[in-house]
Amino acid sequence: MTTVGILGGGQLARMLALSGAPLGLRFLVMDTAGDACAAQFAPMVVGDYRDETALAEFASRVDVATFDFENVPSESARWLADRIPVFPNPGALGIAQDRLAEKTLFRELGIPVPEFATVETREQLVAAIARIGAPCILKTRRLGYDGKGQFRIRQESDVDAAWDALGAQAGTVGLILEGFVAFERELSVVAVRGRDGEFRSWPLTENWHVSGVLSASLAPAGVESTLERAAVAHARKVAEALDYVGVFALELFCRNGVLLANELAPRVHNSGHWTIEGSETSQFENHLRAVLGLPLGDTRMLGHACMLNWVGEMPSPTPVLGEACGHWHDYGKQPRSGRKVGHATLRADTQSELVAALERVGHQLEREAQVQPVLERLRAPR
Ligand code: AMP
Repeated sequence: MTTVGILGGGQLARMLALSGAPLGLRFLVMDTAGDACAAQFAPMVVGDYRDETALAEFASRVDVATFDFENVPSESARWLADRIPVFPNPGALGIAQDRLAEKTLFRELGIPVPEFATVETREQLVAAIARIGAPCILKTRRLGYDGKGQFRIRQESDVDAAWDALGAQAGTVGLILEGFVAFERELSVVAVRGRDGEFRSWPLTENWHVSGVLSASLAPAGVESTLERAAVAHARKVAEALDYVGVFALELFCRNGVLLANELAPRVHNSGHWTIEGSETSQFENHLRAVLGLPLGDTRMLGHACMLNWVGEMPSPTPVLGEACGHWHDYGKQPRSGRKVGHATLRADTQSELVAALERVGHQLEREAQVQPVLERLRAPR
């Protein structure tokens, strides 16, 4: 019996555990919070990721370790990797944790990125804004997620407000200033690389965010094949450079037909949740296959899929469950403002069936605004 250890016990760990059950896998989750939602399906070690006693207990009970949370301290990942197999490797995790390191890597690999500059002092911020130009975004280098740790600078005079908001973190997690990309589309490549270097990717996904949090994903994104090939080539280059094992997402902005890399998520990703019902093998199952050295499953998609995220509180499940192609995921979390508590996936054989299902669900849940950008994309000539 193989036990997979997962650092972080949120919905990603929960969905990994659910997808691993048919493979006969056991799981052990480690989280700082005793009520982490993956603990409803897997035993848990509660402890700080820096606590060597807790890490030692975790290591003694698992055969291999992986992550649902990319901000596990890289020293802790390295400590574990000295004792048990850890995938993705701690070096890859360390780069993906640092916006400066990942953008530098993308640039070295010839992957276009938004303009960026490292910022350590207020003077450097002023100089960076003068060079990059407003609008731009000041971000923490580490520990930011879902739009947290970010400040949008609309004009040069916003410098004081930006420094007041994030300046205190310049000396701890570090700061990076990025040019604001007036993108036409946000896309992601969700891909997997096996222990033997085999690489597969799911069809490109288009994503819509509200206040920095993913609101909806559509697959296939339906972009021209040259763009799709470029996105996959970027993802493969990054995975090979990092000797990455497991699933990851490369988030991209598309502006004037050019792809700019925003960030690398070193784990299964929210924009790949549609793969559970919408593809031959889900991102969760393929992540487990990869970290266990098993053959990877086919990533071809089954028709068309749209994932809608539920943030803050769960809506009524009835409209989605009433659809022939509707699938419901309740993460078993307490409702809280801004918290991802669940998602739904609508999967259909044809684009017109997906449009009709989205229209019905959006209307019945009074979430027209959430489905609107997806419907506009689906209705536009492709
Ligand atoms: P991030 O945490 O970097 O993925 O940012 C969250 C969201 O903020 C992204 O998905 C974008 O919608 C937006 N965003 C982040 N960086 C930029 C940028 N440089 N230009 C435009 N929008 C951005």
